[in-house]
Amino acid sequence: MSIYLVFCSVLSYLVWTICLYYRHRRALGKSLNRVLKAFSSGDTDIRALVVTAHPDDECMFFAPTIIRLVELKACIHLLCLSEGNYYKQGAQRKQELLNSCAVLGIPASRVTILDHKKLPDDPKAEWSVSLVSSVIVRHIRHHCINMVLTFDGRGVSGHANHTAIHKAVSHLASTGQVPNDCCLLSLVTVGLLRKYIAFLELPLSWLLSSCLCCVLGSQGYRQAKAAMLCHRTQLLWFRYLYITFSRYMFINTFQMIPQGPKNLKIY
Ligand SMILES: [Zn+2]
Repeated sequence: MSIYLVFCSVLSYLVWTICLYYRHRRALGKSLNRVLKAFSSGDTDIRALVVTAHPDDECMFFAPTIIRLVELKACIHLLCLSEGNYYKQGAQRKQELLNSCAVLGIPASRVTILDHKKLPDDPKAEWSVSLVSSVIVRHIRHHCINMVLTFDGRGVSGHANHTAIHKAVSHLASTGQVPNDCCLLSLVTVGLLRKYIAFLELPLSWLLSSCLCCVLGSQGYRQAKAAMLCHRTQLLWFRYLYITFSRYMFINTFQMIPQGPKNLKIY
């Protein structure tokens, strides 16, 4: 009897997950329009900027978003703030990032990789909020970006370079330096248990509200995995576990970063 109950529960959970998957796939276009309409005057063409700290962040954490936005014909730019030179492999990692972006659907012409001595790939380095925010806002203006996607205050893995980007974007938001039609979204960090149950995490993401949810099916997952495999210097054994079990290979949820008064003059 108890085995029968367990079997029914597992089956129900799987069916619920699959139903939610199809529901989210259909709803993404509407969710994006709703987010954009809150900021723009009817312009629903997406010009998105994904801001990351290291080569491999784009596929480890943002692959579901990038793949789904590319499917919806969005124009996506990637700004990676370091070459990932912690182990002196910067040149190689730069090429790996370009290869990964090609797999995800971002052409090299829309990828910017910084190599700035004040922005080293180092969890102990404190990146300057003013420097990072000035780089990001220049990028937003230059490419007429209307959607910025980056880490939240916990940076998914807690890496100091990830959280530094969130601080910089929050600074831009609170000081009104972001163009009026541009929305700012932060990738939700989930706890350890939720992080490693792969696509089975979807019902939990659905229960906890977010303003945007991007979900991959089996084809999208294969694409995300192929992008991960481009980062050959990073393919240690635990990366393969990450590829198999991380919910960030299947699901991304975002919250809006609240913005302060626009055009604030700072003296
Ligand atoms: Zn990183």
